[in-house]
Amino acid sequence: MALRFEVLGRFNRARAAQLTLPHFVCQTPLFMPVGTQGTIKGLTNDQLEEIGCQIILGNTYHLALRPTSELIDELGGLHKFMKWPRAMLTDSGGFQMVSLLHLADITEKGVTFQSPVDGKPMLLTPEESIQIQNRIGADIIMALDDVVKTTITGPRIEEAMYRTLRWIDRCISAHKRPNEQNLFGIVQGGLDPVLRDICVRGLVERNLPGYAIGGLAGGEDKDSFWRVVAQCTAALPEDKPRYVMGVGYPLDIVVCSALGADMYDCVYPTRTARFGTALVPEGVLKLKHQVMARDTRPIDPACGCMVCKNFSRAYIHCLVTKDAMGSQLLSYHNLYYMMKLSRDLHSSIVYGKFPEFVCTFLQKMFPEGEVPEWVCNAMEVAGIDISSCCSPVSSSYGLNLDEKAHAV
Ligand SMILES: [Zn+2]
Repeated sequence: MALRFEVLGRFNRARAAQLTLPHFVCQTPLFMPVGTQGTIKGLTNDQLEEIGCQIILGNTYHLALRPTSELIDELGGLHKFMKWPRAMLTDSGGFQMVSLLHLADITEKGVTFQSPVDGKPMLLTPEESIQIQNRIGADIIMALDDVVKTTITGPRIEEAMYRTLRWIDRCISAHKRPNEQNLFGIVQGGLDPVLRDICVRGLVERNLPGYAIGGLAGGEDKDSFWRVVAQCTAALPEDKPRYVMGVGYPLDIVVCSALGADMYDCVYPTRTARFGTALVPEGVLKLKHQVMARDTRPIDPACGCMVCKNFSRAYIHCLVTKDAMGSQLLSYHNLYYMMKLSRDLHSSIVYGKFPEFVCTFLQKMFPEGEVPEWVCNAMEVAGIDISSCCSPVSSSYGLNLDEKAHAV
């Protein structure tokens, strides 16, 4: 095991911890920006450090295709190759194959797919995924799992869960650098509590350095989503980090942290920036909107980031439609927002102010008290009283951030 996880503070199920990894000491809850090909689109490494980014996620699938894991290894590992001194996590590559490639097929051996380079059939086995990740050299590496959409029902969910458990043993045996890299297992089982329970127990028996909750953020309803997170966090060990994969929106991160999750990753903040959208405490701000053309205020007057200190909404509005600089500035602000959210979650838990933080967050996002019912249900299970920020009759069940877009 190459990590140390020390809980510094708790509020009911929520925890704030110090996660010591080979390359960096991180504070949780934490958000990991996704750097597909050894770069976070639109930001330099210096800027990432400046906004307080502690760990980035690299996509094994993309890195294995180009520049290839062999070349990264030859050039001293990905940290050195991309000159990133802080922590790094790589995914297994499996999810990308299944989601990006039409011809991916999962068998007991591994994931078979058609090479996007030369069209030849290729096979990614659990052993190979780990070998590639060993060569890339990230602080945390992920087991290859059998991913199915949560919206699928029937025996396929059960098959995928049991296969994920069989594959974890193959991943553990193949892992050649356990003293430098931490292998996380991934809990599968769809929306079925019985299957999730079997998977959690199976993985915990293997005493891994950390655990991820997988297969979510794939179109399931929000009430199912938080219930799976709540079930898994309650059953996973107290002294190991818990990572909810592919999550998410700021609201999701606040809810999952209240339920005891520690780590998150999502392309949303940078992807939505490329569509001209900024994350703000009220929800989102669409910079392409015509009303921005003469708005001299910063994106968020309360934000301390370089973009908000220097530029107006009008200037960014002018850029977003024509110049790459527009999405770069928005990516910077959005990731700053996510880093600040992570820091605020951490310090509010450490200083015993977590319920106050949650209420302030919800009041800004839902000023009329229209907190979605799934959030109210989750907070009840988390033991956080949010009655002061909810209207008596909550009528906005199922609304998500994008639907609730504030074009202030
Ligand atoms: Zn800002």
